[in-house]
Amino acid sequence: MSTPDILIAGLGPAGLALAAACSRRGLAVRTVEAHPGRTWSATYGMWHHQWERACAAFPELSGVPFSTTPRPRLIAPRRSGASPQFGLIAADYVVVDTAALQCALAAVCPPRMTSEEVLATADLGALAAQGTRVIDCRGAVPPDLRADPAAAACQTAYGVVLPAQHAREYLPGGAGCLMDWRTDAFGSPAKPSFLYAVNLPGDRMLLEETDLVGAPALTIARLRERLHQRLGWASPEPGTAGRAEGFADPDEIERSRGVLATEKVRFPVLPAVRPAGLETFGTAGTAGHPATGYSVGEILRSAESAADALAAGRPIPASTGVGTRALHRLGLRALLALEGPALQEMFAGFAALDVRRQLAFLDRSSKALPTGMAMASQWWNTTNATRAAVARAALLGR
Ligand SMILES: Cc1cc2nc3c(=O)[nH]c(=O)nc-3n(C[C@H](O)[C@H](O)[C@H](O)COP(=O)(O)OP(=O)(O)OC[C@H]3O[C@@H](n4cnc5c(N)ncnc54)[C@H](O)[C@@H]3O)c2cc1C
Repeated sequence: MSTPDILIAGLGPAGLALAAACSRRGLAVRTVEAHPGRTWSATYGMWHHQWERACAAFPELSGVPFSTTPRPRLIAPRRSGASPQFGLIAADYVVVDTAALQCALAAVCPPRMTSEEVLATADLGALAAQGTRVIDCRGAVPPDLRADPAAAACQTAYGVVLPAQHAREYLPGGAGCLMDWRTDAFGSPAKPSFLYAVNLPGDRMLLEETDLVGAPALTIARLRERLHQRLGWASPEPGTAGRAEGFADPDEIERSRGVLATEKVRFPVLPAVRPAGLETFGTAGTAGHPATGYSVGEILRSAESAADALAAGRPIPASTGVGTRALHRLGLRALLALEGPALQEMFAGFAALDVRRQLAFLDRSSKALPTGMAMASQWWNTTNATRAAVARAALLGR
């Protein structure tokens, strides 16, 4: 077999996992990355079975530290004013030590295969036209394709890292949650956000106020303010109680509360359209779940089959079929258009789903039928008013 000439542009989770899988197959790969010395710092979470699958595919990952939040809770208010729906997510949730993940994947690749280069879409197209097999792993929206950032659907979040014992004092029953949609601490906003509270390696916890998706999404400053209100660190009128206590400055509030680190999240949930013929992998392609923002578990799952395809000279298979992609887009459209109470109740409907259906919706690689069944059941689990709002939002975008 002749050695393929492969160029991977971008070494985030997608590019690095693909480069590692290609290297293990003895493929000659060149990689370029705009910031090759940068250490990943985002907290990457995924489902436990996804992590197990990744470790089976890459035995080098078995030494990477991770933390588990067993079956995290989902709490969402009901529109009727009845007590909120409490549900458990079907699977255990894992957050990996991201820097260790990066090191373990990089260790599989030969040294000096990466150059510090910024390749624009036109450069990638030119190289592909000259016969190089180019894989665009530059993420959902690389700078040269960022037409209108304000119009892009983004997920945003602001989080604080605390010692686990201290963080649990803020959580009912001391347990983590994937989503707590209650907003009593800051009224009934038209655009609700939720608390994401998960264990981190090193006996720490991340408490993060998240806007699942918005166009425009809530600002990080607004989410920080809401997180402080939710945790009782500030009064509903921003600053007033803080000032009285002498802690008006949010940095000072966090210092006084023993915050170990903070996290700011902002990423687009849909990929920018690439020119025809440019191959993609990761969130540049089909790995990102547009209605949840998750991608890393799917990237680690699919890197092996992508490398197999490259070795065989075939196109890289999509993470998911056309039908599931269309359903996830429908879900995204509904999320973008729904107002507060209907949005919250949609998640009460999700919390009430059975295990199989929850996982079918969360997994980007699910087939269309189980995905559609999960979405229909979630919709059916809500009140008539919410069903009508969701149908309008999904079909008409309002
Ligand atoms: C703080 C934070 C927390 C997150 N938590 C989670 C989570 O818990 N679970 C989850 O699944 N997802 C999470 N995400 C989303 C996650 O970051 C992305 O889904 C994931 O990084 C996508 O991987 P990727 O390799 O496709 O793209 P990226 O990670 O965006 O990587 C793209 C790479 O390409 C490089 N690049 C870009 N342009 C060029 C260029 N022109 N030339 C050369 N190189 C270039 C970039 O420097 C970067 O290294 C989080 C995001 C953030 C910001």
